Amino acid sequence: MPMNGLLRALPSVHELLDEPEILELASLTSRDYARERLRSAIDELRSEILDNALDVEPESLAREALARATSGGGRARPSLRRVINATGVVLHTNLGRAPLSDRSIEAIVSVARGASNLEFDIETGTRGHRDAHCESMLVDLLGCEAAVVVNNNAAAVLLVLNTLARGGEVIVSRGELVEIGGSFRVPEVLERAGCTLREVGTTNRTYLADYERAITESTSLLLRVHPSNYRIVGFASRVAAGALAELGRRSQLPVVDDLGSGCLIDPAALGVGDEPRAQDVLADGVDIVTFSGDKLLGGPQCGVIAGRAEYVNRIRRNPLMRALRVDKMVYAGLGATLAAYVEGRAEQEVPSIRMLTASVESVRARAVAFAARLNAAAPEFGAEVLAGRSVPGAGSAPGLDLPTALVVLDHPSMPADELDARLRASEPPIVGRIEHDSVVIDLRTVRPDEEGELLEALLRLA
Ligand SMILES: *Cc1c(COP(=O)(O)O)cnc(C)c1O
Repeated sequence: MPMNGLLRALPSVHELLDEPEILELASLTSRDYARERLRSAIDELRSEILDNALDVEPESLAREALARATSGGGRARPSLRRVINATGVVLHTNLGRAPLSDRSIEAIVSVARGASNLEFDIETGTRGHRDAHCESMLVDLLGCEAAVVVNNNAAAVLLVLNTLARGGEVIVSRGELVEIGGSFRVPEVLERAGCTLREVGTTNRTYLADYERAITESTSLLLRVHPSNYRIVGFASRVAAGALAELGRRSQLPVVDDLGSGCLIDPAALGVGDEPRAQDVLADGVDIVTFSGDKLLGGPQCGVIAGRAEYVNRIRRNPLMRALRVDKMVYAGLGATLAAYVEGRAEQEVPSIRMLTASVESVRARAVAFAARLNAAAPEFGAEVLAGRSVPGAGSAPGLDLPTALVVLDHPSMPADELDARLRASEPPIVGRIEHDSVVIDLRTVRPDEEGELLEALLRLA
């Protein structure tokens, strides 16, 4: 159909306003909302016609407009949606990082629904402090004096530097001046915190003597940064946290370690090798550590600042604290996640920990069963199970990966990028990855109760 014919046949809002579907939508919502949905459906059709991207007969245009206006029950749809993470990247920054435990979700729902003691002391009936929430569990787990929670780890680093080193010099190893995720660059954060960067050592090797020589009257703080998303192999060395802490004590300077991931349990059990545990770094004498709540910890997005009370209390009083603080839902989700650690149940309860600790045999068993179901119903996908690698993600344990079993899909008439795009267009969208020209699905990061949706989506494409 030539473009002009379609454009001429495109109905107006006015012509469709009294169709039964639109009247019904208007009765469920409002007349204005129904009219707006209709208008945007018609606009969408018009631009598809102009792009030559619409393949319908002119007499079907009205039906198409009505269907689009009332799709999804005619409900307004926010842009943030659930997706199925079949990438095998457990803590996928672009897919929202850590999935929360049922207990965390229930805790969030319960404070979200109504009032809570966010800033209220239930015993005395007087005003309380929000920053006391989660502190005692963090202090117990980390064996430190005090802790405070802010919006994310970037905020934690900014706040610590701004409180303890504003107007002074901060000494950092050249090998640790990292960029994380494009927008967090250590030198830039330092500058915004009002500090001057004093780089020491070289990219691959920095010694304690390098820090020692750089200390002057202007030095305010010694900073160590976990090089989260890269790893120097070969001729490389960093100064150990304990040695830097000792230098800090001798020089009467605070020593801060930005750990990034915040691992609290045996990293070997998680397959993340030599990732430092936050409590060990504090035990080594570091004054303050900072880490994310939604990386290896497996909780909601937030940043934890923990260590010496003298410093944490100054941080709490920084006026920026108000701008960087977290809401009741974060305290609820984090509190429930930490409770699992306090009870020694993190490996059973925290989903990201469960995904990381799942054995390759258990992932393979799921993959084999899934491939068999798919092959029985839609053999054209040629599903096969092959060995592959999953990764922890979110800058945890750079360079490390976990053995996994992948479901490899090879459709004879659907190239990998097309199948990948169609899976992303499913409801809910499914995000896999492409390897060697095939779409691969890693069930390590898919919840068992999502497998049915995944299978149905593939069958719809068959
Ligand atoms: C991830 C990371 C950050 C940023 O943490 P967010 O929680 O994403 O703000 C900062 N420093 C290090 C070392 C990190 O790994």
